[in-house]
Amino acid sequence: MIVILKENPEKHQLDNLLSWIERQGVTAHISHGIHQTVMGLVGDTAKIDIDLLCQMEIVETVKRVQEPFKNANRKFHPLDTVIKVNDAVIGGGGMTVIAGPCSVESEEQIITVARSVKASGATLLRGGAFKPRTSPYAFQGLREEGIKLLLEAKKDTGLPIVTEIMDLSQLDLFDEVDVIQVGARNMQNFELLKQLGHLNKPILLKRGLANTYQELLMSAEYIMAFGNENVILCERGVRTFENYTRNTLDISAIPSLKTLSHLPIVIDPSHAAGIARFVSPLSLAAVAAGADGLIIEVHNDPTHALCDGMQSLTMPEFDKLMKKINIIKEAEMSVKEL
Ligand code: PEP
Ligand code: MN
Repeated sequence: MIVILKENPEKHQLDNLLSWIERQGVTAHISHGIHQTVMGLVGDTAKIDIDLLCQMEIVETVKRVQEPFKNANRKFHPLDTVIKVNDAVIGGGGMTVIAGPCSVESEEQIITVARSVKASGATLLRGGAFKPRTSPYAFQGLREEGIKLLLEAKKDTGLPIVTEIMDLSQLDLFDEVDVIQVGARNMQNFELLKQLGHLNKPILLKRGLANTYQELLMSAEYIMAFGNENVILCERGVRTFENYTRNTLDISAIPSLKTLSHLPIVIDPSHAAGIARFVSPLSLAAVAAGADGLIIEVHNDPTHALCDGMQSLTMPEFDKLMKKINIIKEAEMSVKEL
């Protein structure tokens, strides 16, 4: 349920309304917009007497929200959510690029790539330590050692780090990780999502291989319902009948999720394409369509990468792509003003 308030309510009127709402056993989330103050009510709102609420002096209108996701819903929070990770900002009209290898392989590899992507303009470093591989015989990641190496790269470059958690038992190792990634395969691991909801740290939530927007938003809702509102949505390609590319990048996810939700959306063209030379066109399409960020796989030696070499850009390729991204981002901002 959302309650839209009249302009400039008095503090005591607002306090009275809030305590009335509390007595109904639901929680109110207040969002102060430029022209309007919106209150999102979460919980069992079925018993609330709408007529009574409508009659309150500071209440303009009351609407029932049909969608099952509440905290993630744009109706509850009309302005874009902006998530700050040290100096990097994700959401609210900018373009943030996260780059790095699929997997952390060695100190030399991660430091080399981190320095290079930073010089090209990336503001966060990615790298997998725990890897969800289709085959149990494939490289599973350096695990704890991988996190240590990422932290060294963070110390060396100052770049905040993004890395994937696969299981709750790994959580203690993530204390100094800046953004925790929940991979596509874990998007509906509800116990994991609930625990991440107790943290005060951004979560990059990837869309599952065959999940709808609503399912993605319900997973975000799991994290938010437990108090952590710092969720970044990530479209990384979905499974379709097409098998020329690894997955099919769903560009429609950008305007759709932006309509449905206030959360930032980041595009992963690397896992969507599975082919390095397609990463650039897909990245540019995502920037043009208004994505808040990109997460791109970059390797110092893709042909010898232990994971996802086929889709990894070389460091010079990434540098060139960053220049193109900047051009398209400028055009996107001018187009938005028309
Ligand atoms: C990854 O980011 O390396 C990864 C495994 O991603 P996804 O969960 O999207 O497959
Ligand atoms: Mn990968």
